[in-house]
Order: sequence, then C-alpha cells, then structure tokens
Amino acid sequence: MDCIFCQIVAGKVPTEILYQDEEVIAFRDINPQAPTHLIIIPKRHIPSLAHLSEKADSSLIGHMVNVANQLAQKEGILESGYRLAINCGEWGGQLVPHLHMHLLGGRRLSGKLG
Ligand code: AMP
Ligand code: ZN
Repeated sequence: MDCIFCQIVAGKVPTEILYQDEEVIAFRDINPQAPTHLIIIPKRHIPSLAHLSEKADSSLIGHMVNVANQLAQKEGILESGYRLAINCGEWGGQLVPHLHMHLLGGRRLSGKLG
C-alpha cells in the first residue's frame, strides 16, 4: 500500500499521533498553513468524500468533527475560532487520496475559501 496516510496508520512513518481510537487518528500536518494545523483521518482507506457510502459511513464525518472539536480545545483555539476543511478531488485541491479533514487555527484565517 503506497498511501502515505495508510502508512501512518500502520506505524510505518514516524508521526506523533495526537489522538486515536478504533476509527480515526489525528496528527500534525507536515507543512502547516497555520499555528495549529492538524489532520484527522479515518483509519480505513477511503479515497475521498466522494467515496463515502451512506450506509457504511453515515456516522464517520460526525465523529471526525467531534474529534476535531476536542483537539481544538486541547490546542487552545476553541474560543478564538478555527476552520475544518475537507478537500475532494483534483479541482477541490485534494493532494493525498485518503480522506482527511484539516483543522486550522491559531491565527485569523483568510476569508477566502476558493
Ligand atoms: P490535501 O491538499 O487536502 O490533500 O492535503 C494534504 C495534506 O497532507 C497537506 O497539507 C500536506 O502537508 C499533508 N501531508 C502530506 N504528507 C504528510 C505526512 N507524511 N504527515 C503529515 N502531513 C502530511
Ligand atoms: Zn490510505
């Protein structure tokens, strides 16, 4: 499996894991775009948002948002505010083809979304 995020899940790439449970793990982005920039991923290889199945994955994104909120609190950015972003596909700016959520904060973020 040459997916970089699957390799992180498998412990094959040394990465500080900030959170993990049966379904998801979180770690710091290697190229941070803000003082806090975390990545939250499902452990299971799902290529993108577009590959979510309503039946099998109905609770996954909600769970990832809850984990992100807990991490925002740990990072001390719950009050100041933060952004959750999921890029999907080539035109959506997705570079790593394993579903992931960005948690960005720690500075006033640009109002630009696209
Ligand atoms: P996206 O453009 O939404 O696919 O974002 C992929 C993100 O993964 C980028 O912000 C990268 O900096 C980040 N990234 C790529 N490889 C790693 C890695 N080994 N550890 C942590 N973050 C990574
Ligand atoms: Zn993967």
